[in-house]
This record gives sequence, C-alpha cells and structure tokens, in this order.
Amino acid sequence: MMSILEPWHYVKPSSLHGTGVFAARDIPAGTSIIEYEGKHISNQEADEMEPSDPNNPFHTFFFSLSCGKIIDGGDGGNESRFINHSCAPNCEGHENSAGTRVFIVALRDIAKDEELLYDYALVIDDDITPTLKQQYRCLCNAPTCRGTMLALPEAKDKPKVTKSALHKKLKKIRREQKKLRKHMRQLNKKLDRILQHTEDPV
Ligand SMILES: [Zn+2]
Repeated sequence: MMSILEPWHYVKPSSLHGTGVFAARDIPAGTSIIEYEGKHISNQEADEMEPSDPNNPFHTFFFSLSCGKIIDGGDGGNESRFINHSCAPNCEGHENSAGTRVFIVALRDIAKDEELLYDYALVIDDDITPTLKQQYRCLCNAPTCRGTMLALPEAKDKPKVTKSALHKKLKKIRREQKKLRKHMRQLNKKLDRILQHTEDPV
C-alpha cells in the first residue's frame, strides 16, 4: 500500500503549456494535493519585479492571497508553481483560516495521470483591454474557455449589459405599442364607419 506521504502529483511536460503537474494516482475530491509555496511579497514588490522569463513576460508564478499579499512561487516555490491554468479547472486554491497559506485542493475526483489545473483568475489593476487579454490569453481548450487567464469582472459588467439590453427591448416594445395604438385607432374608425353604415336604413 502507498504511504500517505507519497506525493499526489508528478511533473512532466504539458500539452497545454510548458511544464505541467499531473495526478500520480487517483485523487479523491477535496484532497489537499500540495501547498502553493513561495516568498510572500507585497503587490508593489510584485509590480516592480522583472518578468521571470523575458521570452514570456506575462508568465506568472504569483498567487494572490485575499489579504492582498502575493505568494511568489518563483522564489522558494515548490512544484505547485508548474500547475497550469484552466477555465474549467479540476483544482482550486484554498487559503488556510489565517489567510497566510494556500493549498491546491481537488475540486472533483481526479484520475491518475490527469493534469492538475486551477483557474488563475489573475487580478490586475489596469483596465482589461483586448491587448491585455491577448497577453494573458488562455489556451486551455475548455468549451467554457473565457479566452484569458485574467479574472473578468463579470458581476460588475453583467448588470450594465443587461440594463442596456433591457433599455433596447423597452424601446422596441414602446415602438410596437405606438404602432398598435395607431392600428387600433384606425380599426376603431373603420368599425365606427361600419356601424354607422349598418344603422343606416337600407
Ligand atoms: Zn481557458
């Protein structure tokens, strides 16, 4: 029988991107697979850092903690830094209650040799432009791929989109109402004429 200390994962080249991390054996949902280790740095320190790979300047080993600090997997990190992004992930980063450590946890049962993936949902201070999306483009191939590893502010955008769409619909309905009212008036006139006609003695 395998020891519990045996790692859940192994590292090998990934078809998605560079190096990936894979399940060494079947991993049950909820399993804490590996800690995301690395130096804890501030947002500002992260911004000031040179890209870890000049050929791939938007490649990142950063994991943002909810407190605003960042774990730099590129400095003192372990193999968890090689876990690739997916818009349809099988893993997720869980913070401990103190918000100081992150563990990569299985979102569902993962079969042996499946690549471990989590949604980077990268948050950046700049406005998300098409260029930025392209720089952080996602190649995960998931049917639900949002095309970027950036976190898109869906919740913020959705009401705006819905509101303007609703406004358009409302305008259309009002136009139709106007047309119908006009049509009704014409029909009423016609009806009046017919009634007058029938009341007329033949
Ligand atoms: Zn994707």
